[in-house]
Amino acid sequence: KNKPLRNQTAIVTGASSGIGQAIAIALGKAGANVAVNYHGDEVGADKTKEEIQNHGSKAITIKGDVSEKEEVEQLFLKTTDELGNIHILINNAGIQQDEPFKDMKAESWDQVIRTNLYGAFYCAQQAARIFIKQGMDNTLSKAKGKIIFISSVHDTIPWAGRVNYAASKGGLLTLMQSLAQELAPEKIRVNNISPGAIKTPINEDDWKDENRKKALLAKIPYGRIGEPEDVAKAVVWLASDDADYITGTTLYVDGGMTLYPSFLEE
Ligand code: NAD
Repeated sequence: KNKPLRNQTAIVTGASSGIGQAIAIALGKAGANVAVNYHGDEVGADKTKEEIQNHGSKAITIKGDVSEKEEVEQLFLKTTDELGNIHILINNAGIQQDEPFKDMKAESWDQVIRTNLYGAFYCAQQAARIFIKQGMDNTLSKAKGKIIFISSVHDTIPWAGRVNYAASKGGLLTLMQSLAQELAPEKIRVNNISPGAIKTPINEDDWKDENRKKALLAKIPYGRIGEPEDVAKAVVWLASDDADYITGTTLYVDGGMTLYPSFLEE
C-alpha cells in the first residue's frame, strides 16, 4: 500500500499534545515507527503511542527534557536500542513564556531559549551524528536522514511581548539554513515548517474566547484557524522522497498569515 515512510524510524519531540502528537500519529500512519518523546504528560504520550500502533506501526514513549544534553543523548540511545536505525528527527518541542520586555525575567528568556533553541541544537546534533554513522540505505530513503524543525511564523513576524519566543524561532531559521548547507554533502536534508495559528493547548486563550478568536482570524487571510493535522500532513510530505530535492527551506503552513493581511483592508 502507499506508505511513503514505510520501515523508517522517526523521533518526534514534545509529542504528547498538540502539533507534535498529530505529527507522530501522521508519521505512524505513513508507515514510520515512532519514538514519542514527552516532558511531563505520560498519559498524552501513551495516547499518541496507541494511535500509532492502531495504524500498524511500532511506537515507544520516552520521557526526556530536550533542554538537557544528557537526556537528549538517552532519547537517541533508547530509540536505536528499541527501533533500530533512525531516519527522521522532528524537532517540535517548544514553549512560550510571554512577558513585556521591560519586566521580562532572565529566567523566562533562559527557559524559552533553552527549550526552543538549545533543544533544537542538541537533538539535531545527535541526529546528524547518527545519520552519518549509520550511512545510506537506499531501500528506505534517498537521503541519509531528514531533520525538520517546527519553527513558527514568528521566525519572521516580530511579536511584541514575546521577544524570547521570537528570538528563539528567528534563531532556528539561520540554524536550519546553516545546518542544511553543512549537511547537504552528507545527503542529509534539513528544513523548517513554520506554522501560523494552530489550535493547540499553547494558544487556547486565543481561540476559546470569541473576541480574541475574531481578532486572530483577522490576521489569517484564508479565514480559518489551523488544525494540528494541517502541519502533520506537511511534515509527512517533507520527510518523504517526494521532497528529496528540498533542503534549507521554510514551509509556512499559516493560511497566509505571513502575507501582511492588514493590506487586505481598503
Ligand atoms: P503544545 O504546548 O501542545 O506542545 C508543546 C510540546 O512540547 C508539549 O507536548 C510539551 O510537553 C513539550 N515540551 C515543552 N518543553 C519540553 C522539553 N523541555 N522537553 C521536551 N518536550 C517539551 O503546543 P503546540 O502548539 O503543539 O507546539 C508545538 C510546536 O509548534 C512548538 O515548537 C511551538 O512553538 C510551535 N508552534 C505552534 C503554533 C500554534 O499556533 N500552536 C504556531 C507556531 C509554532
